[in-house]
Amino acid sequence: MTNTVRETLWDPIAGFGVTFRTMFKKVVTEQYPFEKVPTAPRFHGRHQLNRWPDGLEKCIGCELCAWACPADAIYVEGASNTEDERFSPGERYGRVYQINYLRCILCGLCIEACPTRALTMTNEYELADDNRADLIYEKSDLLAPLLPGMVEPPHEMLISDDHHDYYKGKTLPLLPADPAADAKVNPPGAPGEDS
Ligand code: SF4
Ligand code: SF4
Repeated sequence: MTNTVRETLWDPIAGFGVTFRTMFKKVVTEQYPFEKVPTAPRFHGRHQLNRWPDGLEKCIGCELCAWACPADAIYVEGASNTEDERFSPGERYGRVYQINYLRCILCGLCIEACPTRALTMTNEYELADDNRADLIYEKSDLLAPLLPGMVEPPHEMLISDDHHDYYKGKTLPLLPADPAADAKVNPPGAPGEDS
């Protein structure tokens, strides 16, 4: 079969034309991991277990997130708060909380199911590791960091004696005009205190 003039002369030029046009276009390649480009604001990354402004945990150990998960990636064990040891306002808290990132597909159904907004997702996407065990995140890996004014649980309810007030947000933030109450939230040596 003999080549036509078009196949012999024009097609190579047309092929290189694509190359030349592309050479002058804006480069879209991202130089990850040397340059990290911010994700979209609502990107679904690693989960976070949130806290109330006094440091108590928002998770009530209800397991709704675990039941909502299509990949069976969440394991929760709830327990009761006591007078001596309180981790969340109200009756229950999440004693054990694990997310298995070998299973998680980052779909976000769990955060939709959470009744207290205890569970949300961050933009963190670097979830690779060199062994399977480290990809099962424990509660300590998922808990939000303590911000200024927060105290590490267990401790009493510092915002209000009525746990409903936490959910209504009625008494937030605690008025700093009350020195006794302020000292309650920011005891000496608490995170955020000037030393
Ligand atoms: S993001 Fe989806 S797959 Fe991952 S733990 Fe939540 S519900 Fe399960
Ligand atoms: S994260 Fe939310 S849904 Fe899951 S156990 Fe805690 S309170 Fe319930």
